This record gives sequence, C-alpha cells and structure tokens, in this order.
Amino acid sequence: MIVTIDGPSGAGKSTVSRRLARGLGFAFLDTGALYRGVALAAQEAGLDVDDQARVAAWLEGLELTARPDGGRFLVLLAGRDVEPLIRNEQVADLASRLSGQKTVREHLLSLQRQAGQLGDLVAEGRDMGTVVFPGAEAKFFLNASPQERARRRLRELQPLQPGLTLEAVLADMAGRDQRDAARSLSPLKPAPDALVVDTTELDQEQVLGLLMEKVRGLAGRS
Ligand code: C5P
Repeated sequence: MIVTIDGPSGAGKSTVSRRLARGLGFAFLDTGALYRGVALAAQEAGLDVDDQARVAAWLEGLELTARPDGGRFLVLLAGRDVEPLIRNEQVADLASRLSGQKTVREHLLSLQRQAGQLGDLVAEGRDMGTVVFPGAEAKFFLNASPQERARRRLRELQPLQPGLTLEAVLADMAGRDQRDAARSLSPLKPAPDALVVDTTELDQEQVLGLLMEKVRGLAGRS
C-alpha cells in the first residue's frame, strides 16, 4: 500500500509522515530530501542552477541514490549520506529553483517510483498524489495558515540559525510557495482524491490520529 502526503513547507508533513510510517510499519520516503540532495550536489559543483541546459547535462553524471535503511530511505551522493548537509535555507532555495526544471523532475521520478516498488510506503512531498504515485491508495494534503507555517519553520531552524526572524522565514517561504504552486510542471496542489487537512489548529497527535484512522480504515477495506 502507498500513502502519499503532500503540502507546503511548515504544514506539519515531516514529523507526522515519519510517525505514520513507523506506526503502520511502512517505509518512509522524504522526497524533499532528494531535491535537496540534487541542490547540494549542484552547490558543491559550483553549478549555475538557473542554466537549464548545463543542469540537464550535469544530471547525467549525478550519483544520487535512495537506499532503504531501517524503515526510511537514506539519500546518498556518491555513497555519502548527505542528511546533515541539506537542512539549511541555502540548499532549500536551490532545491526550489531546480525543482521547476523538467530534467530534474524526470531524473527524480524514476528514483521515487523505484522506492514505491519495494513494499508499503509513506511518501512525502509536493506531487506524490498527483504525479509520482497517482494510483496510491491513501492520499493526504496537509496545509496551515502562512503565519502558523512560518512559526513552525522558525522553531525548526532557530537552533541552527539563531539570528533568524519570523519575518525572514515568512518572506522566504512565500517566495518558495509561489514558485512551487505557479510552476507548470507538477505544481503544488491536492490530488482530486486527496483528503485535505488544515493543521493550523491541530497538534501533531491530532493530525497523526486522523491520518492513522483513515489509512487503517482503507487498509481494512482492501
Ligand atoms: O520538503 P522540502 O522543503 O525538503 O523540499 C525542498 C524543495 O524541493 C521544495 O521547496 C520544493 O520546491 C521541492 N520539492 C518538489 N517536489 C517534491 C518535494 C520537494 O518540488 N516532491
């Protein structure tokens, strides 16, 4: 069974997706980490990420893989676990700029679908229910007000960037949201058959409970 969880950043996807996967005994795939992995590699290579022809040629030599490891997928660049290097705003910004390019999306599409062939999966991202796994049995789209999403992002980022302000996070997020929603390829939007959950007034336990109940109901029916 495949469960998809899409939505903008700060909507509460990451922790809930991880916990849902653990609770169900499914593997967890964070597809944002794949886009961030491409972004990190581009940064390290000194690539101009807005030069689409160069990006397309460079992708052919990119050694990016997703390896199952204890219930989740590790993103590896030439065998190196990049998790500690991809959780910052510079990489997020590059990822967002690269993610509008057809060659990048196509490159990652096959990696993501391969992960879906290995067994039960919770896949988190922006286009899981619409493009990558359109036939998924359970689809969710999490959202929250921009203010609340920025507050959550700030809480995550402040330990790493102590000087960061709510205004800066809000502005950054608005720019990336706009790019994600306005791009012609795989824009951020709920699949027609997704359950849309507004998490503004809900805590993690409540969101998790809601999703868990829905998935268990669907699994029991099949
Ligand atoms: O979710 P996360 O913030 O890690 O994603 C980083 C960037 O990767 C997003 O801003 C988005 O542009 C892109 N992304 C995407 N499609 C996905 C997952 C992430 O375009 N399925």
